[in-house]
Formats: sequence, C-alpha cells, structure tokens
Amino acid sequence: VIDLACVVHVHSRHSDGSGTVAEIAAAAAAAGVDVVLLTDHDTLAARVAGDERWHGPVLVCVGEEVTKRPGHHYLAFGLEQPIDHRGMTPRDVVAAVDAAGGFGILAHPFSLGSRHFRFLPKAGWEEIAPPGAVGFELWSLFCDTVERLPSLRAGVRFLADPDRVLDDARPEAIARWDELTAQRRITAIGGLDAHQVGLRVAGHVPLRLLGYRRSFRLLRTHVLVDQPPSGEAARDRDAVYEALREGRCYLARDSLAPARGFACWAERPGERVELGGETAADERFTLHVRLPRAATIRVLRDGVPIARRHGTELELPAGAPGVYRVEARLHTHGRSRAWIYANPIYLR
Ligand SMILES: [Zn+2]
Ligand SMILES: [Zn+2]
Repeated sequence: VIDLACVVHVHSRHSDGSGTVAEIAAAAAAAGVDVVLLTDHDTLAARVAGDERWHGPVLVCVGEEVTKRPGHHYLAFGLEQPIDHRGMTPRDVVAAVDAAGGFGILAHPFSLGSRHFRFLPKAGWEEIAPPGAVGFELWSLFCDTVERLPSLRAGVRFLADPDRVLDDARPEAIARWDELTAQRRITAIGGLDAHQVGLRVAGHVPLRLLGYRRSFRLLRTHVLVDQPPSGEAARDRDAVYEALREGRCYLARDSLAPARGFACWAERPGERVELGGETAADERFTLHVRLPRAATIRVLRDGVPIARRHGTELELPAGAPGVYRVEARLHTHGRSRAWIYANPIYLR
C-alpha cells in the first residue's frame, strides 16, 4: 500500500487564491505533499491551461468548487466542464456532478459563520449526506478555525503558532459523522480552503498571513493506493480519486508528527478489509492498528469508544457487527490533540 499525502481544497489565482498553480505546486513540494487537489470557484481553468499534471514530485489534480451563494459549496472532481449551477438546488448540484461522471465532497458543511470576521458568512449545508455525494469535509481547516476563534486576539495567536491553537475537528462534525456512517458509507476528508490570504496591495500580496506552504503542513488527507504513481498524470489522478470515492483515506495533522506509516485494517482468515471497506460481520475479524510513533489510540464502534491504549500498535477482536473507526491523539503544547482520524471499516 502506498500512502499519498494530499492537500484538498486549494484556491489559486484562477479564482480568489493569491498564488499561481506553479507556486502552489512548489509550496506543496517544499512541504512534502504528494498531491494537490485544486478547487477554484466555478472554473476548471487550471486544467484548460494544462496544469493538471505532475509538477516535479507533486501531482496537481484539478476539480472545482461549485459555489452557490450563500453556502452549499461542493468540491467536484472528475469533470470535463464546470457545472452551470444557476437555478439549481444543492441536491441538483450533487446530481449534476454525478450525471457528468464526476464525484463530489461537501465543502465546510458545518459552517455557521463568524461573529468576529463578518466577511465569513454562514456557508454550511443543511443536509450533510445528500444522495450521490461521496463525502464531506469532516474538518475544514480555515472555516472551522476562524469560526471558532473566541476573539480577534485568538486569531493573532493562531497565525503566530497554529499548532498551539488547533486541537480537534468540530465535535458536532464528529457526532454527525458517526450518525451518517450508521446509514451509509461516506468519506470524511480534511479540507484546507487555502487561499494564501494576506494583505493585498496593488494586486500583490506582500504580507502572507497564512502561506500555502505553511497551511499545507497543518492538515492533510492521506489516500492509500495499490501502486506507486506511474508518472502518467491521468492514471495517477484516477487512482487518487478512486481512493477518495472508496474512503480509503485518513485525515492527519502532519505538523504535529508525520503520519505516514499509519495503517488500520480488519482481518480474518482469507479476508482483509481496508479503510472505507464494507463486508459482512464475522466473529473471527480482528482490527489492527499501526502507528509510526507512539500515541493514544482510540477505537470506536458505532461512535462509542470501545478501546484506548497508548502505543504504536493495537489489535482488537472485531466480531461484533458495527462501524469501526480509529483516532490517534498526541499530547503536544500542553494538551491532547487529534493527530489522525481514519475513515471507518464497515463490518455489518
Ligand atoms: Zn467555499
Ligand atoms: Zn473554497
């Protein structure tokens, strides 16, 4: 299994980001990222410009953020043409992406707007799992951070040292996730909504408050693919998309500690089930967890914690039917923080 570190939900100058695709790819390479999933607002211009390709060690995949206002933004991938969403309901957008052969992920679905930053209106979704949607941002880094800042001063603290401020995805997002997976498979991802915001002066951004390179370290979605990348962009992109569709991925705060090496699977004689996989429950299943460094491992079944231990590995009988998911937490900067959220394994 090959672990590709992806940054999902990134804006370039093709919409309201402040960097070119080349600059974004360079920032990703410097941050040790393998894949950028670019999602400019209502445009696939980066693809038209020939930027969906390998840029040195970084694969750039071009999706779009279908941007209805206000809210109900949808990260759509695998499209030939941007979606003309005029007059569409959010459910229509999901269906249109599906009909065009693409797939989508709900952007910042839990957004409530910000009290302190009025430029950020409420931009969530009323329905978190509309039929046909492949997944949702369990953690939408920019939105969830800014909306939860208790004060402007806290915002300054965040910019000075994000790792001190970030700790968990929104509790209501986690709770909703566990409810949804009881109904159907759905992929949780970590989105950045990276714009490289800063102070814009005469068309330039001389002061970068949160540059691409810095935000690319904070939250990643690691996808698990069978083969090393071939170097052929379309094929490698499709392998990444397939892993996202299947939920074969996990969120990680790589700035706390590199997460590559994390593994979680369920096994019984003759069968192995990966993240996102679903199969009939069997009393002979064992759940396996491996970590690249010691952390607190929590296992939840149907949203209820069933095991917890500190270490680099865990094995647990998984005979009871249910939706099994794993979190790893690290104690850093004075408290316990989420390091890894893995997509579930469905035994039912
Ligand atoms: Zn958005
Ligand atoms: Zn966005």
